[in-house]
Amino acid sequence: MSEAPTRHSKVLIIGSGPAGYTAAVYASRAMLEPILIQGTQPGGQLTITTEVENWPGDSMVMGPDLMVRMEAHANEVGTEIIADHINALDLSQRPFTAHGDSGTTYTADALILATGAQAKWLGLPSEEHFKGFGVSACATCDGFFYRGKEVVVIGGGNTAVEEALFLTNFASKVTLVHRRDSLRAEKILQHRLFNNPKVEIIWDHTVEEVIGGDNPRGVEGVVLRHVSSGEKRTVPCAGFFVAIGHAPASDLVKDQLETHMGGYVVTKPDSTATSIPGVFAAGDLTDHEYRQAVTSAGMGCMAALEAERFIASLDAPAAEAAE
Ligand code: FAD
Ligand code: NAP
Repeated sequence: MSEAPTRHSKVLIIGSGPAGYTAAVYASRAMLEPILIQGTQPGGQLTITTEVENWPGDSMVMGPDLMVRMEAHANEVGTEIIADHINALDLSQRPFTAHGDSGTTYTADALILATGAQAKWLGLPSEEHFKGFGVSACATCDGFFYRGKEVVVIGGGNTAVEEALFLTNFASKVTLVHRRDSLRAEKILQHRLFNNPKVEIIWDHTVEEVIGGDNPRGVEGVVLRHVSSGEKRTVPCAGFFVAIGHAPASDLVKDQLETHMGGYVVTKPDSTATSIPGVFAAGDLTDHEYRQAVTSAGMGCMAALEAERFIASLDAPAAEAAE
């Protein structure tokens, strides 16, 4: 029986969002010959959106296109990009070890974690029951199915407002449900939402239950509850989109690295260094505050520069001894 393959690199980058690809560009140009593992969402979160209007240099760029360009850039400067998903990491000794679903074991002198964030769910049993049957966390992926139908979106941040606006391209009516009486989304997005005739906003409500049928399985409405009076009402809809934020994808490291604020990896001030020397974290995985493509890319740059310095410090004693 042949042994499972092992691949060693000076720098291993886990994640292919803006943080991972930017780290890859910098690490490649520092001649570190990095390997980047893409994960199950090549390109990261921006691949599930449409227009990105705040990436400097592009007044509008489609999210998936931007990520294709980032991948091409990383590839062109020499990054080895591998389609694999890491299911276990051992940070207890160097070289660090990562196990891929493909069966490959990756070892590395320095590690850049850029696993980003994933959509949060409400946690309702009925939400779980109808996931994929009318309940979704991605309007870009599933909006098309609701042509001429009514949909409900829950959330009050940028994602919820963008999802609601995108859904107006297909749906006959979009109801946005928010638990407070003001949105946290950017003002320009709020302005577009308030002026869209297909949108109704229901303030001060949460979703208590998703209702529907089982033959065939499908959503028929959501039961809302007023946050202070507790009064309930049902809003009929064929699709229910959950857009209540994102949680850091830190499962791989939460028992090995210091985390805070619900799982975000802690980094040293003005640095991407984590609690283990040689392990760096960048992007939404570590950022509970800004969570933007451009800040993630900036942190990816920092992580690669810091990894380069770390590797130089490992090589320095050997070089001095040889002199
Ligand atoms: P992510 O983009 O989350 O990428 C994480 C990567 O890690 C993925 O490639 C995934 O496959 C990989 N990964 C995860 N786990 C593993 C594993 N175990 N093994 C291997 N790989 C793994 N920001 C803006 O600035 N402008 C916008 O207009 C904008 N619009 C958005 C619209 C939507 C709908 C959403 C959800 C977000 C939006 N954001 C926007 C936020 C922006 O997408 C994120 O801040 C940014 O993508 C974070 O980049 P990242 O590199 O940290 O991680
Ligand atoms: P977010 O900013 O954290 O907003 C989450 C929203 O969901 C909040 O309005 C919150 O309500 C609500 N919420 C949370 N838990 C809830 C629950 N259990 N029930 C009901 N409502 C709940 O998340 P996001 O909108 O996904 O954005 C994440 C990050 O990505 C942000 O930094 C954002 O700027 C960025 N992003 C940027 C763009 C852009 O630049 N165009 C687009 C998308 C995302 P409260 O307001 O009451 O807390």
